[in-house]
Amino acid sequence: MHIFRTVSLRFRLFFTYAAVSLVVFSLSFALLFFKVREDLTHRIRTELNTSNQTITDMVETTAMVSIKNHLRAIAEKNREILAYLYQEFLQGKISESEAKTRAIRVLLSQSVGDTGYIYCIDSRGTAVVHPQDGVRGRSFAHRRFIQAQIKNREGYLEYDWKNPGDTQTKPKALYMTYFQPWDWIISVSSYKEEFSKLISIDDFKDRILGLTFGKTGYSFIFDIHGNIIIHPEVSGNVIDIRDAKGVPIIREMVRQRKGFLTYFWKNPSETEPREKFVAFDFIPDYGWIIASSSYTKEVFSPLPEIQRLFFFILLLALLITGGVTLAVSGSITRPLTSLILRLEKAADGDWSMRLRQTREDEIGKLSATFNTFMDKIGAYQKELVTEIQVRQDAENQLKLFEKVFENANEGICITDRDGRIEAVNRAFTTITQYPAGEVIGENPRILKSDRHNPAFYQSMWTSLVENGYWSGEIWNRKKSGEAYPELLSISAIQDKSGLANNYVAVFHDISEMKTKEEQIKHLAYHDPLTGLPNRSLFKDRLNQAISDADRTGEMIQVLFVDLDNFKNVNDSVGHARGDELLREAAKRMLSVTRPGDTVSRLGGDEFTIMIPHIQKTRDVATMVKRLQSVFREPFTLGSHVFHITVSIGISIFPLDGEDVDSLIKHADLAMYQSKTRGKNQFRLFKSRMARQVEERVKMEADLRAALDNEEFQVYFQPQMDPGIMMPAGMEALVRWVKPDGRVVPPNEFIPLAESSGLIIPIGEQVFQAAIHQGLMLRQATGMDLSVSVNVSAKQFEDRGFGKMVADLLSRENFPGNRLEIEITESLLIKNSRAAMKRLETLSELGVLTAIDDFGTGYSSLAYIKRLPITTLKIDKSFIDDLSRDKETRVLVETIVIMAQKLNLGIVAEGVETREQLSILSQFGSVEIQGYLFAPPMTADRTREWILNREYRLETTA
Ligand code: C2E
Ligand code: CA
Ligand code: CA
Repeated sequence: MHIFRTVSLRFRLFFTYAAVSLVVFSLSFALLFFKVREDLTHRIRTELNTSNQTITDMVETTAMVSIKNHLRAIAEKNREILAYLYQEFLQGKISESEAKTRAIRVLLSQSVGDTGYIYCIDSRGTAVVHPQDGVRGRSFAHRRFIQAQIKNREGYLEYDWKNPGDTQTKPKALYMTYFQPWDWIISVSSYKEEFSKLISIDDFKDRILGLTFGKTGYSFIFDIHGNIIIHPEVSGNVIDIRDAKGVPIIREMVRQRKGFLTYFWKNPSETEPREKFVAFDFIPDYGWIIASSSYTKEVFSPLPEIQRLFFFILLLALLITGGVTLAVSGSITRPLTSLILRLEKAADGDWSMRLRQTREDEIGKLSATFNTFMDKIGAYQKELVTEIQVRQDAENQLKLFEKVFENANEGICITDRDGRIEAVNRAFTTITQYPAGEVIGENPRILKSDRHNPAFYQSMWTSLVENGYWSGEIWNRKKSGEAYPELLSISAIQDKSGLANNYVAVFHDISEMKTKEEQIKHLAYHDPLTGLPNRSLFKDRLNQAISDADRTGEMIQVLFVDLDNFKNVNDSVGHARGDELLREAAKRMLSVTRPGDTVSRLGGDEFTIMIPHIQKTRDVATMVKRLQSVFREPFTLGSHVFHITVSIGISIFPLDGEDVDSLIKHADLAMYQSKTRGKNQFRLFKSRMARQVEERVKMEADLRAALDNEEFQVYFQPQMDPGIMMPAGMEALVRWVKPDGRVVPPNEFIPLAESSGLIIPIGEQVFQAAIHQGLMLRQATGMDLSVSVNVSAKQFEDRGFGKMVADLLSRENFPGNRLEIEITESLLIKNSRAAMKRLETLSELGVLTAIDDFGTGYSSLAYIKRLPITTLKIDKSFIDDLSRDKETRVLVETIVIMAQKLNLGIVAEGVETREQLSILSQFGSVEIQGYLFAPPMTADRTREWILNREYRLETTA
């Protein structure tokens, strides 16, 4: 069975089919064979039996005929004898009884065979003649065969008879003739078993010998004693004859009487015994055995042929089954084999294998499935190959990264998005002294030093979040606690959605670099003798301090310190001692400074000290006192003791200079001044600004005084109506007329008056004077002149302003609509809601409002429309450009047109030339104010000017 499994499917199928066919065919054949054989046997038996029967019949018929004839002959002879005797009687030769007696004697004297006899009955059935005495005269009419005799009188008859004394009936036969004269039925009877002697064998011998079976089969007859009666070759007694195996076949047949036997017979002419069989039957009437024998082989002669036929059919069947099986199994296994072949190729990596799809059965489906399978596998394989490649690449890259990561000289630290450390490399440990195990899971905060303020870290995170990147120098702390600088760059590793998944920090310990840099810096920026910063570092620091102070509004002190009489030290004890003293002096100076202050040596015995973050100028003295106190102590150089004092000059940022050089220069200067006064002195530099401040303070005081002394006067500058070339109004312009007669222009004191708040009382005085004198001018000239008064923002915003104007108008009885206030655009813009309210209150009084310096500010007509503005005063700068610049001309013309549309009055300020005048007059109705007609003048002068009609222009000029 195991071997069977290793054999290919095809041969398995083949062998199975072949074996099954073989078995089936063999079985069928065996069945057929035995059936045929049995049939043959049966047939031959039947034939032999039939033959035996025929022989039996033949013998019996022949016997019967012979016996019948024999008995008849006897009967007829005896009837003739009776007829003769009766003739004798008739002729009278003998009496009738004589004749009968003689007849009876003759009849009874005759024997038929061994035991047969002749008897006579009359037609009534009474025995007339019979060998046994007791029988004669008895009637046997009741016997059936007697009745048949009575009825037929002539003929053959067979019957069973039991003689008195016998125990059994025996078959008998008789032939009867009728002798009518005496009514005698002459019967010749005999026992059938005795007939054989009566049979004439020659009657059927030839016929029996003519019977053949097969080729050489024959029939023969012998009696129960073994005497051959009929046999084609043998005669005599054969009772003891035995076959080749020693079986006494004749005796056996005699014993069995009827049956069938096989035996082996060897003919004298033959060397080998051959199987024979014999069918035999017994004819008891004659004690004969009839046998028919034949060679088995001859009987079964069709069998070998059948066998041959069978083997031929079997072979043919095997061939056909084999062929068909091979073909069928091949049709199944061939696609399988081809599938296997392709699978093998596929297993070797050839994924292009496909099966041809020509069928629709399971094989076809298998092919289709295989192809689909291969397609899929191919696709998967391709994907796999790609993926493997990608993975390999990624892996290689990862390995590379790992190597780089591990072996990098830079410390690398990777955190998750929450800042927990996930990995660090060797350099990280080398630099920070933290082994990886101690920091994984921690926050990099553990490395944080206290050198940076929260804002620093804040900006770092902002940059990380916004740009995903930060780099810079940072101080961190080692495990030992030692702080070190590193060059750090942090990158956020973002996922696809842009969220930071990890942060990678790469850093470089730059302590060494820093130290070297520091050393170089130190060398470059320090004085080798004292180790103090040198001039350039001092300047750097000062510069830095200045920009800081600019922001904070604090002040900086710069002290220029010079050792007094240092030259003597050098001269008396030498330069080495001198250097020693310088170092000691430096030490002492350092001892009185605070962190943030800078002491530097400029060279020789000159030092500078910078003290930032000064809030008040009077702090200046503190440092000086401290310095002087540390120098009170004498310097001991070897055996020498020196008393050294210092001369100090001080400059203050921003009062004494706004840049490094001027501050140092001014401090130096102050030091010289102090030195000229004697040793151990100090002096502050007197700055321009300090002077200005002083001036301001003085002027403020002067202004107050001027206010009290009523030194402010109002000048008037006429405004001309160009249509009629007559004054329409005048602008009141303040002047400070000092007691010495000097006239100070408003630009020099108005700003101070505004910042000090003095503008309110000054403004009030101006208003009073302007309205008072304006009223007088109106009366004196009889012209309906308007008065314009300048109002600064401070004044306008003052709560009392509106009331002040209203009171003044009513007190002086001045027409409100002839008063015009001049305000600036910026005022309106800055405070438009409150300004609007104020303007409305004034306009209720009829007061006019002019926008001064129009065009220099926002120049928006939009808000002017919303405000109760009545006049625009075009700024002098536009007027200046009128004749020079075309664009300005267009602009001014536009303003004029717009103003007219809005129903606003227009004044052109600072008109100095006729050209300007003529250009302006082309635009439309513009009032003219300017030196072309008149400068600001005192009220008296103005009155004169008007009355003398000095406003008329010389047409020729
Ligand atoms: P402002 O209101 O623009 O006055 C016009 C200025 O232009 C005046 O100078 C006037 O002398 C000058 N000016 C007039 N015509 C010409 C000209 O043709 N050529 C030249 N070069 N200049 C001319 P002033 O009087 O020195 O006034 C200067 C400023 O002081 C005024 O400018 C005004 O803003 C302010 N101011 C004058 N008086 C007062 C006052 O009583 N109260 C307030 N708050 N400010 C005043
Ligand atoms: Ca003005
Ligand atoms: Ca002006």
